[in-house]
Amino acid sequence: MRKKTVAGNWKMNLNKDEAVRLFGEIELRSEDVQDEVNLMVFPGHIYLDALLTARSYSSRILIGAQNFHPAEKGAYTGESSVAQLKQLGVDAVLIGHSERREYFGESHAFLKEKVNAAISHDLIPVFCCGEPLEIREKGEQEEYVQRQLEESLFHLPVTDFAKVVIAYEPIWAIGTGKTATKEQAEDMHSFIRSLVQLKYRQDTSDRTTILYGGSCNPSNAEELFSMPNVDGGLIGGASLKAEDFLQIARKR
Ligand code: PGA
Repeated sequence: MRKKTVAGNWKMNLNKDEAVRLFGEIELRSEDVQDEVNLMVFPGHIYLDALLTARSYSSRILIGAQNFHPAEKGAYTGESSVAQLKQLGVDAVLIGHSERREYFGESHAFLKEKVNAAISHDLIPVFCCGEPLEIREKGEQEEYVQRQLEESLFHLPVTDFAKVVIAYEPIWAIGTGKTATKEQAEDMHSFIRSLVQLKYRQDTSDRTTILYGGSCNPSNAEELFSMPNVDGGLIGGASLKAEDFLQIARKR
């Protein structure tokens, strides 16, 4: 019923040649990935234009930005607005990644503004949520994630919420090689879907894409993606090699 999505978060990796080459390889070799899988990449900001220019006219790969500022324009040195990204041709934006929350102090309120800005310019918001280890150890991960969704996402009217992709990324699994088990992922994904159902009703919750992120790789993607509420993945480290990324996409 829901299409799977496999998205690559390249973070602050690769130089320009490597980024353009990786994109080209993914594009060329994505033909054997089933049509019902959406493919998305989030390259470093300064390569967005190069990738958008290199992208072939008939490409199926969406290109997203890892960051932006929610203001329309103004004195925000070093930042870019959604209007600027939209004009460049960007399709999607990452919002609420734990690294932005932690290292750049992005609060629930700020992320809410980012969600609104993305929606207002028709960019697909890929909204990340997920708990740190100490919260998981206390068994409070559901309350923690619920708060992230309620504070920054659930103010949206249903027509706008329908455009959002959610990515559950437990922080203890990001870049650590310690993946959530398929049961841990499924438990949280079904919990998130039940929250969406309570807030926006069943037809919306049935259609909401919920990705898993955190040390997802070609060896564990199949079992994670086999769970009924896991609709694909947001891939960090393993998205930096075309073969690994495409192997994950083939495990839909
Ligand atoms: P990882 O990163 O796959 O390297 O754990 C995922 C992410 O941060 O999106």
